[in-house]
Amino acid sequence: SYDKETVAFFEATTGEVFYFLSASDDDKKDLLDSLRPAELVLSEEIKKIYLSSKKQVGGPFVSSYEPSGDDVNSIVKIVGEVPAAVIRLLSYAVSMQGADAIVAITKVEKRHLQKYLQMRANTVKHLEVLETYAGEKQGSLLHAIDRTKTSTGARKLRQWLLFPLLDLQSIENRQQQITFWIENFNPSTKSPGVKVIRDHLSNIGDIERRLGKICHPNANPRDILSLSQSLEEGLILAAKTKFYNYSESGIRAADQIVSLVSSAFMDEVPLHFNKEYFIKKGFQSGLDEWIDLTTNGEDKILQMEEAERAATGIASLKIRYNQVFGYYIEVTNTHKDKIPKNYIRKQTLTNAERYTTDALQELETKILSARAKRFELENAVFKDVKEKVLRSAAHLIDVAGQWAEMDVYTSLAYLATERKYVRPSLADNKKIKVTGLRHPVIEQMLKEVFVPNDIEMSSGEVFLLTGPNMAGKSTIMRQVATCQILAQMGAYVPATMAELPIIDRIFTRIGASDSLAEGLSTFMVEMVETAEIFNSITPKSLVIMDEIGRGTSTFDGMSLAQAILEEMLHKNSSYGLFATHYHELTRIAQTNVRLKNAHMSISDNGGDLKFLYKLKEGAANKSYGIHVAKLAGLPKSITERAKSILESLEKEGRSITQHKQMDLFSQDVEAVSPAWMNELKAVEVEGMTPIQALNYLVSLKDLANNDAL
Ligand code: ADP
Ligand code: MG
Repeated sequence: SYDKETVAFFEATTGEVFYFLSASDDDKKDLLDSLRPAELVLSEEIKKIYLSSKKQVGGPFVSSYEPSGDDVNSIVKIVGEVPAAVIRLLSYAVSMQGADAIVAITKVEKRHLQKYLQMRANTVKHLEVLETYAGEKQGSLLHAIDRTKTSTGARKLRQWLLFPLLDLQSIENRQQQITFWIENFNPSTKSPGVKVIRDHLSNIGDIERRLGKICHPNANPRDILSLSQSLEEGLILAAKTKFYNYSESGIRAADQIVSLVSSAFMDEVPLHFNKEYFIKKGFQSGLDEWIDLTTNGEDKILQMEEAERAATGIASLKIRYNQVFGYYIEVTNTHKDKIPKNYIRKQTLTNAERYTTDALQELETKILSARAKRFELENAVFKDVKEKVLRSAAHLIDVAGQWAEMDVYTSLAYLATERKYVRPSLADNKKIKVTGLRHPVIEQMLKEVFVPNDIEMSSGEVFLLTGPNMAGKSTIMRQVATCQILAQMGAYVPATMAELPIIDRIFTRIGASDSLAEGLSTFMVEMVETAEIFNSITPKSLVIMDEIGRGTSTFDGMSLAQAILEEMLHKNSSYGLFATHYHELTRIAQTNVRLKNAHMSISDNGGDLKFLYKLKEGAANKSYGIHVAKLAGLPKSITERAKSILESLEKEGRSITQHKQMDLFSQDVEAVSPAWMNELKAVEVEGMTPIQALNYLVSLKDLANNDAL
């Protein structure tokens, strides 16, 4: 639910409630995108606005609810003073499912948006954090790093990945946990080892969700039994990991529930009520009497069956029970003639008849009333146990959360060991300095060896990546971003050494044609997203621009790309990665020291072109496109013609870019130093007067400014 001031969330199955204060419209949109609620509960007014501004079909189901004064009072009584959006949400839940709906709520938590590394929904999508462009889990970052054993752990991992931290201390606390498990990867005297823990965890299952089911009005005995079994496994784990700082009240509550359930419930319990018994004898004296009566009654039926067989001489005669007809004596048609007079026909089957007798009817009445009484009392016991469980739900959720965390930590430790990740060292305002960096997803999917890269980048620098398609430009840019996300969620990273800054926002813009799967993506969307980036960029942001400007004509696109690149450079001190096929942009590096030309290297051994995927300094050789075409077997006539077109285009391009420059500096700008630098090299400072020197400096500055184009 949300209103002007608050966005509130309620996870009905786990009883989790949290809210964000003063979230902007953009923040709301991002929260909805990342948390994907199943249903939105709005005020009538906001619902109208929401529905009229909604552009796409799908998305959450939209309801509206106005809490009454009584609603407000009863919610406040349970959870204390909370924002209106929370009250709306919880009173709606109660109105739909009754008071049980919110009984498992531990606390209403206020969360801060700014505590996390912010990624807009499109960044999460571009970096394929939760799913690939094709909408598949496999191939996503989450899938690549997920080694959790419980669904509670998996949900927590997903949450951590979507909300990486900003606070160094909290990041290091998480790292510390992972380091502990890596150091104790194998069982030691101190700790049971990652593999042992993971085995235990997989037996625990999903405590949160089980509790959620128990909150539901139609919870059945099996829900409670399996919760208890989960808790029992958890307690075994807790006993083996005493060094862990467990919630005392959580462990106590788990203990109590396990002993309560194991003394009350039979080892096997039914899914439905009033069919099979499930409460143990000895649990409650009032019930025991009826347990005896029902068991005796059934013994009496067996005795009657024996007696009737003897009296009639029909060995196959049997007395059975069903829901519709109650108890009956069944005799197959072959023995029809032996039926005694006192048998009363009840039902005819194709090859048998069913009867009753006065004695059987009398016994049946006794048994059925005992049975009904026993069910009644068992159901009361169930209700009682259920209430006790729900009353300690808050504590159980606490300790279940700790097991889920242990699941996340051990699985990240497992991942780090399995795939040789390293613990990054983070600090504010640090450089990005990583050696042996890999892409966590692609390295797992690639049949060939993934080529690791070293990258060093100061705050304020922009890397301009040029080079042909398929050279690995997009990949290395995503590597930097995913590495940063993993580091700030507290995980290890796929590298051999990593020193990283703490980033506050990651922005990505992937050019239209590079994300074909987006379908709707048009040049317009590209520009809207770019505008959004520049509106919210900060000095601690990481910005990734991949093939910007592709969606429009060459000169149009190139001009925009250049203007965007210049703006990135102008917005001092964020970290930028900019991949482009507009080779012309490499010139900017000549006049702006914060732009670093770089390319993904390619070996060209006598026409044998090979992608090396190594990041190198400097601009790429620009005719690789034609080279690649030649390798691909395009007829020579075409590639030769392309070459000559390229050459003439280059000449034209030069005359355009140099039209402002003086003739005497007409050098090849692509290949050599800029004009002002050559001029500077040639000047004889010794013979100048101070005024001449000053004038010279002014002219040199003009020259440099022209060069910047
Ligand atoms: P570009 O953006 O330059 O067109 P991509 O980044 O999309 O290139 O990379 C193209 C393909 O090259 C990737 O799908 C991957 O298979 C392979 N690749 C990229 N980087 C590496 C690497 N470091 N090691 C091995 N293969 C790589
Ligand atoms: Mg690319």
